Amino acid sequence: MKHIALYIHLPFCARKCAYCDFVSFPGRTDQIPAYLDRLAREMEASIGKYGPLAADTVFLGGGTPSLLTGEQMKRLMADVRRFFAVAPEAEITSEANPGTVDAAKLRAFREAGVNRLSLGVQSFDDGLLGTLGRIHTAREAEDAVRMAAEAGFSNLSLDLMYALPGQRMVQWQATLDAALSLPIRHISCYSLIVEDGTPMKALVEANPGLLPDEDAAVSMQHEAARRLGQRGFSRYEISNYALPGFESRHNLVYWRRGDYLGLGCAAHSLMNGRRFSNTASLDNYLAGEGPGEIETLTERDVFEETVMLGLRTREGVEAALLPADRLEKLRGAGLMAVENGRARVTEAGADVLNAVILALI
Ligand code: SF4
Repeated sequence: MKHIALYIHLPFCARKCAYCDFVSFPGRTDQIPAYLDRLAREMEASIGKYGPLAADTVFLGGGTPSLLTGEQMKRLMADVRRFFAVAPEAEITSEANPGTVDAAKLRAFREAGVNRLSLGVQSFDDGLLGTLGRIHTAREAEDAVRMAAEAGFSNLSLDLMYALPGQRMVQWQATLDAALSLPIRHISCYSLIVEDGTPMKALVEANPGLLPDEDAAVSMQHEAARRLGQRGFSRYEISNYALPGFESRHNLVYWRRGDYLGLGCAAHSLMNGRRFSNTASLDNYLAGEGPGEIETLTERDVFEETVMLGLRTREGVEAALLPADRLEKLRGAGLMAVENGRARVTEAGADVLNAVILALI
Protein backbone atom coordinates (compact mmCIF):
# COMPACT_ATOMS: atom_id res chain seq x y z
CA MET A 1 0.00 0.00 0.00
CA LYS A 2 1.23 3.48 -0.80
CA HIS A 3 2.08 5.63 2.24
CA ILE A 4 1.27 9.33 2.20
CA ALA A 5 0.85 12.38 4.40
CA LEU A 6 -2.78 13.55 4.29
CA TYR A 7 -3.62 17.26 4.49
CA ILE A 8 -7.19 18.48 4.88
CA HIS A 9 -7.93 22.19 4.52
CA LEU A 10 -10.76 23.62 6.63
CA PRO A 11 -11.14 27.16 5.31
CA PHE A 12 -13.60 28.58 7.85
CA CYS A 13 -12.67 31.46 10.16
CA ALA A 14 -14.52 33.50 12.76
CA ARG A 15 -13.03 36.75 11.46
CA LYS A 16 -10.23 37.65 9.06
CA CYS A 17 -6.96 38.55 10.80
CA ALA A 18 -5.33 41.80 9.66
CA TYR A 19 -2.31 40.10 8.04
CA CYS A 20 -4.01 37.04 6.55
CA ASP A 21 -4.00 36.17 2.89
CA PHE A 22 -4.66 32.43 3.38
CA VAL A 23 -7.67 30.87 1.73
CA SER A 24 -10.14 31.34 4.57
CA PHE A 25 -13.72 32.52 4.73
CA PRO A 26 -15.24 34.31 7.73
CA GLY A 27 -18.92 33.90 8.52
CA ARG A 28 -19.60 30.70 6.59
CA THR A 29 -19.59 28.10 9.35
CA ASP A 30 -23.14 27.09 8.42
CA GLN A 31 -21.56 25.44 5.37
CA ILE A 32 -19.34 23.11 7.41
CA PRO A 33 -21.77 20.13 7.16
CA ALA A 34 -21.91 20.46 3.35
CA TYR A 35 -18.13 20.82 3.29
CA LEU A 36 -17.66 17.61 5.27
CA ASP A 37 -19.96 15.81 2.79
CA ARG A 38 -17.88 17.12 -0.09
CA LEU A 39 -14.63 16.08 1.64
CA ALA A 40 -15.96 12.53 2.04
CA ARG A 41 -16.71 12.43 -1.70
CA GLU A 42 -13.21 13.69 -2.44
CA MET A 43 -11.70 11.02 -0.19
CA GLU A 44 -13.65 8.34 -2.04
CA ALA A 45 -12.57 9.73 -5.42
CA SER A 46 -8.92 9.78 -4.30
CA ILE A 47 -9.01 6.12 -3.33
CA GLY A 48 -10.66 5.35 -6.67
CA LYS A 49 -7.80 7.14 -8.42
CA TYR A 50 -4.75 5.95 -6.43
CA GLY A 51 -5.93 2.69 -4.87
CA PRO A 52 -5.56 1.99 -1.16
CA LEU A 53 -3.58 4.66 0.71
CA ALA A 54 -2.08 4.58 4.19
CA ALA A 55 -2.06 8.00 5.88
CA ASP A 56 1.01 8.01 8.15
CA THR A 57 0.19 11.55 9.20
CA VAL A 58 -2.99 13.60 9.00
CA PHE A 59 -2.91 17.38 9.27
CA LEU A 60 -6.09 19.43 9.60
CA GLY A 61 -5.14 22.97 8.65
CA GLY A 62 -6.93 26.16 7.88
CA GLY A 63 -8.58 28.44 8.21
CA THR A 64 -9.64 27.38 11.65
CA PRO A 65 -10.29 23.63 12.04
CA SER A 66 -11.27 24.28 15.65
CA LEU A 67 -14.44 25.98 14.40
CA LEU A 68 -15.71 22.44 13.87
CA THR A 69 -17.80 21.17 16.74
CA GLY A 70 -16.62 18.07 18.56
CA GLU A 71 -19.24 16.03 16.70
CA GLN A 72 -18.15 17.43 13.33
CA MET A 73 -14.54 16.53 14.10
CA LYS A 74 -15.58 12.99 15.03
CA ARG A 75 -17.46 12.67 11.77
CA LEU A 76 -14.48 14.01 9.77
CA MET A 77 -12.02 11.63 11.42
CA ALA A 78 -14.44 8.71 10.99
CA ASP A 79 -14.51 9.50 7.25
CA VAL A 80 -10.70 9.67 7.15
CA ARG A 81 -10.53 6.21 8.74
CA ARG A 82 -13.23 4.86 6.42
CA PHE A 83 -11.22 5.72 3.31
CA PHE A 84 -7.58 5.64 4.46
CA ALA A 85 -5.56 3.18 6.50
CA VAL A 86 -4.57 5.17 9.59
CA ALA A 87 -2.13 3.34 11.86
CA PRO A 88 -2.58 3.64 15.65
CA GLU A 89 0.76 5.49 15.85
CA ALA A 90 -0.16 7.96 13.08
CA GLU A 91 0.46 11.63 13.91
CA ILE A 92 -2.89 13.42 13.68
CA THR A 93 -2.60 17.19 14.03
CA SER A 94 -5.29 19.81 14.14
CA GLU A 95 -4.63 23.50 14.05
CA ALA A 96 -6.68 25.44 16.58
CA ASN A 97 -7.41 29.06 17.33
CA PRO A 98 -7.40 29.71 21.10
CA GLY A 99 -10.53 31.85 20.69
CA THR A 100 -12.58 28.89 19.48
CA VAL A 101 -11.94 26.10 21.97
CA ASP A 102 -13.28 25.01 25.33
CA ALA A 103 -12.57 21.98 27.50
CA ALA A 104 -15.45 19.91 26.07
CA LYS A 105 -14.44 20.56 22.46
CA LEU A 106 -10.81 19.72 23.16
CA ARG A 107 -11.84 16.45 24.82
CA ALA A 108 -14.02 15.63 21.80
CA PHE A 109 -11.13 16.34 19.39
CA ARG A 110 -8.94 14.02 21.44
CA GLU A 111 -11.66 11.35 21.38
CA ALA A 112 -11.88 11.78 17.61
CA GLY A 113 -8.24 10.67 17.45
CA VAL A 114 -6.49 14.02 17.12
CA ASN A 115 -3.23 13.53 19.05
CA ARG A 116 -1.33 16.73 18.26
CA LEU A 117 -2.69 20.24 18.56
CA SER A 118 -1.07 23.25 16.94
CA LEU A 119 -2.37 26.43 18.53
CA GLY A 120 -2.14 29.71 16.61
CA VAL A 121 -1.16 31.99 19.49
CA GLN A 122 1.08 34.44 17.56
CA SER A 123 1.86 36.61 20.62
CA PHE A 124 1.30 36.78 24.37
CA ASP A 125 1.00 40.58 24.18
CA ASP A 126 -2.59 41.82 24.07
CA GLY A 127 -1.64 45.04 22.27
CA LEU A 128 0.09 43.12 19.48
CA LEU A 129 -2.75 40.59 19.30
CA GLY A 130 -5.06 43.57 18.71
CA THR A 131 -2.80 44.89 15.94
CA LEU A 132 -2.87 41.44 14.32
CA GLY A 133 -6.68 41.36 14.54
CA ARG A 134 -6.67 38.08 16.45
CA ILE A 135 -9.93 37.08 18.16
CA HIS A 136 -8.30 35.99 21.44
CA THR A 137 -6.32 37.52 24.31
CA ALA A 138 -3.00 36.28 25.70
CA ARG A 139 -4.83 34.95 28.76
CA GLU A 140 -7.24 32.97 26.57
CA ALA A 141 -4.29 31.50 24.69
CA GLU A 142 -2.65 30.36 27.94
CA ASP A 143 -5.95 28.90 29.13
CA ALA A 144 -6.36 27.07 25.80
CA VAL A 145 -2.94 25.44 26.14
CA ARG A 146 -3.65 24.33 29.70
CA MET A 147 -7.12 23.04 28.78
CA ALA A 148 -5.62 21.09 25.87
CA ALA A 149 -3.05 19.50 28.18
CA GLU A 150 -5.83 18.59 30.63
CA ALA A 151 -7.86 17.12 27.75
CA GLY A 152 -4.99 14.69 27.12
CA PHE A 153 -2.90 16.44 24.46
CA SER A 154 0.70 15.64 25.31
CA ASN A 155 1.98 16.81 21.91
CA LEU A 156 1.23 20.53 21.83
CA SER A 157 2.67 23.10 19.46
CA LEU A 158 2.38 26.89 19.35
CA ASP A 159 2.72 29.27 16.42
CA LEU A 160 4.32 32.60 17.27
CA MET A 161 5.03 35.63 15.07
CA TYR A 162 7.79 38.21 15.36
CA ALA A 163 8.84 41.42 13.60
CA LEU A 164 5.35 42.77 14.29
CA PRO A 165 4.42 46.46 13.95
CA GLY A 166 5.88 48.36 16.88
CA GLN A 167 7.21 45.17 18.52
CA ARG A 168 10.26 45.61 20.73
CA MET A 169 12.74 42.92 21.67
CA VAL A 170 11.57 42.94 25.27
CA GLN A 171 8.02 42.09 24.12
CA TRP A 172 9.30 39.21 21.99
CA GLN A 173 11.34 37.91 24.92
CA ALA A 174 8.26 38.04 27.14
CA THR A 175 6.25 36.10 24.54
CA LEU A 176 8.96 33.43 24.27
CA ASP A 177 9.10 33.14 28.06
CA ALA A 178 5.32 32.90 28.32
CA ALA A 179 5.35 30.11 25.71
CA LEU A 180 8.13 28.29 27.57
CA SER A 181 6.13 28.39 30.81
CA LEU A 182 3.48 26.20 29.17
CA PRO A 183 3.42 22.41 28.65
CA ILE A 184 4.39 22.48 24.97
CA ARG A 185 6.78 20.35 22.90
CA HIS A 186 7.06 22.31 19.66
CA ILE A 187 7.13 25.97 18.63
CA SER A 188 6.97 27.56 15.19
CA CYS A 189 8.30 31.14 14.95
CA TYR A 190 7.43 33.05 11.79
CA SER A 191 8.46 36.53 10.80
CA LEU A 192 5.44 38.63 9.82
CA ILE A 193 5.06 38.84 6.07
CA VAL A 194 3.08 41.89 5.01
CA GLU A 195 0.92 40.73 2.12
CA ASP A 196 -0.54 43.03 -0.52
CA GLY A 197 -4.20 43.86 -0.13
CA THR A 198 -4.34 43.19 3.62
CA PRO A 199 -5.26 45.75 6.31
CA MET A 200 -1.75 45.12 7.69
CA LYS A 201 -0.27 46.45 4.46
CA ALA A 202 -2.36 49.62 4.76
CA LEU A 203 -1.28 50.03 8.38
CA VAL A 204 2.46 49.79 7.72
CA GLU A 205 2.21 52.00 4.64
CA ALA A 206 0.45 54.67 6.66
CA ASN A 207 3.04 54.41 9.45
CA PRO A 208 6.57 54.33 8.06
CA GLY A 209 9.06 52.99 10.59
CA LEU A 210 6.42 50.99 12.48
CA LEU A 211 7.79 47.63 11.35
CA PRO A 212 11.05 46.46 12.95
CA ASP A 213 13.80 46.61 10.33
CA GLU A 214 15.59 43.57 8.91
CA ASP A 215 18.39 43.65 11.50
CA ALA A 216 15.86 43.76 14.32
CA ALA A 217 13.96 40.85 12.77
CA VAL A 218 17.16 38.79 12.53
CA SER A 219 17.97 39.63 16.17
CA MET A 220 14.51 38.38 17.18
CA GLN A 221 15.11 35.15 15.28
CA HIS A 222 18.45 34.71 17.07
CA GLU A 223 16.77 35.40 20.40
CA ALA A 224 14.20 32.67 19.70
CA ALA A 225 16.93 30.17 18.83
CA ARG A 226 18.87 31.11 21.97
CA ARG A 227 15.99 31.08 24.47
CA LEU A 228 14.35 27.98 23.05
CA GLY A 229 17.73 26.24 22.70
CA GLN A 230 18.44 26.84 26.40
CA ARG A 231 15.26 24.93 27.19
CA GLY A 232 16.10 21.95 24.98
CA PHE A 233 14.17 22.94 21.84
CA SER A 234 16.30 22.37 18.80
CA ARG A 235 15.88 24.24 15.56
CA TYR A 236 15.21 21.38 13.15
CA GLU A 237 13.84 23.68 10.46
CA ILE A 238 14.43 27.34 9.82
CA SER A 239 11.18 28.38 11.61
CA ASN A 240 10.52 25.29 13.73
CA TYR A 241 11.80 24.16 17.13
CA ALA A 242 11.06 20.91 18.93
CA LEU A 243 11.99 18.92 21.98
CA PRO A 244 13.69 15.66 20.94
CA GLY A 245 11.20 13.32 19.25
CA PHE A 246 8.52 16.01 18.80
CA GLU A 247 9.47 17.25 15.33
CA SER A 248 6.39 17.52 13.09
CA ARG A 249 6.38 14.28 11.12
CA HIS A 250 3.82 15.70 8.71
CA ASN A 251 5.84 18.78 7.84
CA LEU A 252 8.99 16.70 7.45
CA VAL A 253 7.22 14.92 4.58
CA TYR A 254 6.83 18.30 2.81
CA TRP A 255 10.46 19.26 3.34
CA ARG A 256 11.68 15.84 2.20
CA ARG A 257 9.39 15.98 -0.84
CA GLY A 258 7.49 12.87 0.14
CA ASP A 259 4.05 12.12 -1.30
CA TYR A 260 1.21 14.10 0.22
CA LEU A 261 -2.42 14.37 -0.72
CA GLY A 262 -4.28 17.60 0.00
CA LEU A 263 -8.06 17.53 0.26
CA GLY A 264 -10.44 20.45 0.49
CA CYS A 265 -10.69 23.92 -0.95
CA ALA A 266 -7.26 25.26 -2.11
CA ALA A 267 -5.39 22.18 -0.85
CA HIS A 268 -2.11 21.31 -2.61
CA SER A 269 -0.77 17.83 -3.39
CA LEU A 270 2.44 16.18 -4.51
CA MET A 271 1.66 12.66 -5.66
CA ASN A 272 3.89 10.46 -7.80
CA GLY A 273 6.04 13.41 -8.91
CA ARG A 274 3.08 15.60 -9.88
CA ARG A 275 1.88 18.74 -8.19
CA PHE A 276 -1.72 19.89 -8.30
CA SER A 277 -4.17 21.90 -6.23
CA ASN A 278 -7.88 22.32 -5.71
CA THR A 279 -9.86 25.43 -6.53
CA ALA A 280 -9.53 28.30 -4.03
CA SER A 281 -13.24 29.11 -4.47
CA LEU A 282 -15.32 27.62 -1.65
CA ASP A 283 -18.46 27.73 -3.80
CA ASN A 284 -16.78 25.92 -6.69
CA TYR A 285 -15.30 23.32 -4.37
CA LEU A 286 -18.70 22.70 -2.77
CA ALA A 287 -20.21 22.42 -6.26
CA GLY A 288 -17.82 19.55 -7.00
CA GLU A 289 -14.97 21.17 -8.96
CA GLY A 290 -11.99 18.79 -9.06
CA PRO A 291 -8.24 19.52 -9.01
CA GLY A 292 -6.94 22.09 -11.50
CA GLU A 293 -3.93 21.84 -13.77
CA ILE A 294 -1.52 19.01 -13.01
CA GLU A 295 2.14 20.00 -13.12
CA THR A 296 4.55 17.22 -14.01
CA LEU A 297 7.92 18.17 -12.57
CA THR A 298 11.07 18.17 -14.65
CA GLU A 299 14.39 16.96 -13.27
CA ARG A 300 15.39 20.59 -12.88
CA ASP A 301 12.21 21.36 -10.88
CA VAL A 302 12.90 18.39 -8.62
CA PHE A 303 16.49 19.55 -8.03
CA GLU A 304 15.43 23.10 -7.21
CA GLU A 305 12.65 21.96 -4.88
CA THR A 306 14.99 19.52 -3.15
CA VAL A 307 17.52 22.30 -2.46
CA MET A 308 14.94 24.93 -1.48
CA LEU A 309 13.08 22.65 0.91
CA GLY A 310 16.00 20.56 2.16
CA LEU A 311 18.14 23.53 3.13
CA ARG A 312 15.35 24.75 5.40
CA THR A 313 15.98 21.70 7.57
CA ARG A 314 18.79 20.69 9.88
CA GLU A 315 19.14 17.42 7.95
CA GLY A 316 19.95 19.43 4.80
CA VAL A 317 20.46 17.77 1.42
CA GLU A 318 22.83 15.19 0.00
CA ALA A 319 26.08 17.10 -0.62
CA ALA A 320 26.68 15.16 -3.84
CA LEU A 321 23.56 16.75 -5.36
CA LEU A 322 25.04 20.25 -5.16
CA PRO A 323 27.53 21.89 -7.52
CA ALA A 324 30.84 21.19 -5.74
CA ASP A 325 32.54 24.51 -6.56
CA ARG A 326 29.67 26.63 -5.27
CA LEU A 327 29.24 24.50 -2.16
CA GLU A 328 32.96 24.90 -1.42
CA LYS A 329 32.67 28.67 -1.73
CA LEU A 330 29.71 28.77 0.67
CA ARG A 331 31.60 26.54 3.10
CA GLY A 332 34.58 28.87 2.90
CA ALA A 333 32.30 31.79 3.73
CA GLY A 334 30.97 29.92 6.79
CA LEU A 335 27.45 29.71 5.39
CA MET A 336 27.30 25.95 4.88
CA ALA A 337 28.65 22.84 6.56
CA VAL A 338 29.02 19.26 5.31
CA GLU A 339 28.82 16.27 7.61
CA ASN A 340 28.38 12.58 6.75
CA GLY A 341 27.66 13.45 3.14
CA ARG A 342 24.88 15.91 4.02
CA ALA A 343 25.13 19.64 3.35
CA ARG A 344 23.23 22.09 5.52
CA VAL A 345 23.27 25.79 6.25
CA THR A 346 25.11 27.05 9.33
CA GLU A 347 23.49 29.55 11.68
CA ALA A 348 25.05 32.36 9.63
CA GLY A 349 23.76 30.68 6.47
CA ALA A 350 20.25 30.49 7.93
CA ASP A 351 20.24 34.30 8.24
CA VAL A 352 20.71 34.61 4.47
CA LEU A 353 18.99 31.41 3.40
CA ASN A 354 17.49 32.80 0.20
CA ALA A 355 20.87 34.04 -1.02
CA VAL A 356 22.45 30.64 -0.24
CA ILE A 357 19.71 28.83 -2.16
CA LEU A 358 20.05 31.19 -5.12
CA ALA A 359 23.79 30.56 -5.19
CA LEU A 360 23.19 26.82 -5.46
CA ILE A 361 20.37 26.51 -7.97
S1 SF4 B 1 -7.26 32.49 11.93
FE1 SF4 B 1 -5.58 32.00 10.47
S2 SF4 B 1 -6.57 31.53 8.52
FE2 SF4 B 1 -8.11 32.53 9.83
S3 SF4 B 1 -8.03 34.70 9.27
FE3 SF4 B 1 -6.63 34.43 11.02
S4 SF4 B 1 -4.59 33.99 10.11
FE4 SF4 B 1 -6.15 33.72 8.49
